[in-house]
Amino acid sequence: MENIFPTYQQYPMEIVAGHDWHLTDDSGKTYLDFTSGIGVCSFGYSNSLIKQQVTDQLGKIWHTSNLYPSALQDEVAKQLCPQGMLAFFCNSGTESNEAAFKLARKYTGKSKVLAFNNGFHGRTFGSMSLTGNPSIQAGFAPMVPGITFADYNDSHAIDQITDEFAAVILEVIQGEGGVNSGNADWLHAVSEKCHQEGVLLIIDEVQTGIGRTGTKFAYEQFDMDPDIITSAKALGNGLPIGAMLGKQKLASAFGPGTHGTTFGGNKLALSAAKAVLTQLTPEFLTQVQQKSQVVFKAIQKRVEPLPVVASISGKGLMIGIHLSDDVQVATVIAKLQAAGMLTLPANHNTLRLLPPLVMSETDLLAGIAKIAQVLENMSATVKEQV
Ligand SMILES: *Cc1c(COP(=O)(O)O)cnc(C)c1O
Repeated sequence: MENIFPTYQQYPMEIVAGHDWHLTDDSGKTYLDFTSGIGVCSFGYSNSLIKQQVTDQLGKIWHTSNLYPSALQDEVAKQLCPQGMLAFFCNSGTESNEAAFKLARKYTGKSKVLAFNNGFHGRTFGSMSLTGNPSIQAGFAPMVPGITFADYNDSHAIDQITDEFAAVILEVIQGEGGVNSGNADWLHAVSEKCHQEGVLLIIDEVQTGIGRTGTKFAYEQFDMDPDIITSAKALGNGLPIGAMLGKQKLASAFGPGTHGTTFGGNKLALSAAKAVLTQLTPEFLTQVQQKSQVVFKAIQKRVEPLPVVASISGKGLMIGIHLSDDVQVATVIAKLQAAGMLTLPANHNTLRLLPPLVMSETDLLAGIAKIAQVLENMSATVKEQV
């Protein structure tokens, strides 16, 4: 990779093919995939409806500018938006948060935003400035001014929300930050306080959305009323797309010329999103919830009791296995790769599982068994060293 900036620490193999939830690398080795890219390919790697609709669109036209209306955009917006919201399409999670940040400032006429430690919202200046992780901001100062950080799940954060702020931004489960679940009462209190103070509530559903936690958006499982929702990752099942959804009242601040993008709303990405959302039915979501129960039960039985496991977190098929200091998550991931399984890290030594939502129960359980096996062996080694 001598022609590529070394921004990623990469694994030794290239993934060259995929089918359903199985991947093949350049040496022909196959893997059970518990990553979905990074929470992207929720419908796996060979979904026929997505392939068909993208191919059909490719045969018609794949780009027009946003100076012309798009019935496809309108249709996908209708499928995606909660009642009473409008969509702005862009190309990534970062861009969806950037749009949300801009809209919040413009609509309220205020500049301050409250964000949370361990939150992740992206890598551009706005979204990086909202990201509560100093290592992501390191070397890029100055950040965008006006952003305050509070502790996630901390009751003091509620008192910090005052009418001085344009918006509060949070994830319902912090993904990159370590699969940290928001506490139901706390999330409700944040939402209530925002509305009392006239502060816009932005929920970043880039990782938690599109069925990952068992509902279309994770916030639906809590008593919350977002003004703005951001989405990306799984929305196009691998075709680049992001979306910012906001309440109708915000439209006055996003009139012609206020914000834009060349590629946002691209017809190929939108045809993939349409196929994703068509398949994200209530029945499908119920299946995700059922699989989740089976998987969490297996994890509680086989993984949680192991000495190298500190705790388990997550919802739906977004799962965090928090490891003790005795083992490094990178070592666990490497051992699982050798055993034919792909997994992800998250902050604070967390093994993160984001399997395709379509994975069979049998293969989900086979994956958990592999993890249990690897962590059991590592627990035994740790014991010997003591
Ligand atoms: C991945 C992620 C983003 C950034 O999305 P990109 O598509 O990488 O720009 C933002 N917010 C959350 C919660 C994410 O998980």
